[in-house]
Amino acid sequence: MKGDLRICKNGHRYYKSSDCPTCPVCEDERKPDNGFLAVLAAPARRALESAGIKTLKQLSKRSETEILKLHGMGPGSLPKLRKALHDEGLTFKEG
Ligand SMILES: [Zn+2]
Repeated sequence: MKGDLRICKNGHRYYKSSDCPTCPVCEDERKPDNGFLAVLAAPARRALESAGIKTLKQLSKRSETEILKLHGMGPGSLPKLRKALHDEGLTFKEG
């Protein structure tokens, strides 16, 4: 079962069996901006989101120390964040 064929407002065709109206193609296209959130564990992701950090650009304005202080953020998430920043040519703020 592939589900029903849907066509999103941007003309993408996709199959979905649930009631969720999210188009996977549109989701993918949004990824460059906030895809780094997807590689994080849920508590770390929520920590960033509650600090208003939803993009790598916003993340690059904070220091590693600041990020580590966020509730739910573990040291294991830092290498992933560093890499995500690096891939976009960004770094954490100094200090
Ligand atoms: Zn779409």
